[in-house]
Amino acid sequence: MAQIDDLPPLREVIAEHGLDARKSLGQNFLLDLNLTSRIARSAGDLSECTVVEVGPGPGGLTRALLAAGAKKVIAIEKDTRCLPALDQISQHYGGRLEVIEGDALKHNPADLADGPIKIIANLPYNVGTQLLLGWLTTPEWPPFWTSLTLMFQKEVGQRIVGQTGDKAYGRLGVLANWRCHTDILFDLNPKAFTPPPKVISAVVQLHPRETPLECPLKALERVTAHAFGQRRKMLRASLKGLKPDAEARIEAAGLKPTARAEEIDVAGFVALAHAFDQD
Ligand code: SAM
Repeated sequence: MAQIDDLPPLREVIAEHGLDARKSLGQNFLLDLNLTSRIARSAGDLSECTVVEVGPGPGGLTRALLAAGAKKVIAIEKDTRCLPALDQISQHYGGRLEVIEGDALKHNPADLADGPIKIIANLPYNVGTQLLLGWLTTPEWPPFWTSLTLMFQKEVGQRIVGQTGDKAYGRLGVLANWRCHTDILFDLNPKAFTPPPKVISAVVQLHPRETPLECPLKALERVTAHAFGQRRKMLRASLKGLKPDAEARIEAAGLKPTARAEEIDVAGFVALAHAFDQD
């Protein structure tokens, strides 16, 4: 693919605005237009929703989202050096891009738009999991977003989609799969980025389940933290310190106290959360 719009090529934008990548901001820029377009397309029809993008950087993915027909893109960027380049994009696309300067951890995307929101981002690796956890643990469900299409290090992607029996199965997988359908869409070679990261990346997509199993969220977070915190131990040992009568609670959840965290599926953890939520 030669070009997606009439704006200057990303390498020129980076040189013109002096956007040498900063490790502290998790900056690995995606300059391959085939890949940015593929990510934008994989999020489906964008013409009826607001896209929230975290960390647009020099704007490669941002441009692909706008070229793919996004009605509106709201992009949150911490690095002020990127703002002039993003402003050029906003002007080119007739104001369909709004840029918010700041830390995405301090913004709730729900407050940024009224209609349906899709979150699409090549996330900075240092805050990616924290951002995802925030979007997964909203009090209301279904949440304010209709899908998340996010790039992570592949190892994190595998944890998000992880199920019982997978090596990467853990807390993140329980939480994500309790409330969402999760998929890894495709991997990206380090060479696709400037500078190349040390690891393979993956695009992960999450869609909210309409009716996840009813579950006390805080209790689920506590139970999974204890169970996977000592994942080699049997539940009767790993959950012992959580509340009195741990063994009886595990049995009340219909599980064997001798089972280990990695053998318990999402429904099992939901049952444990209920059992450990009781006084
Ligand atoms: N979207 C661009 C791309 O695909 O080439 C850049 C992705 S780069 C992996 C991550 C971006 O997130 C950088 O532009 C970085 O400055 C920005 N960033 C890092 N921490 C952030 C934060 N807490 N809030 C908002 N943006 C952040």
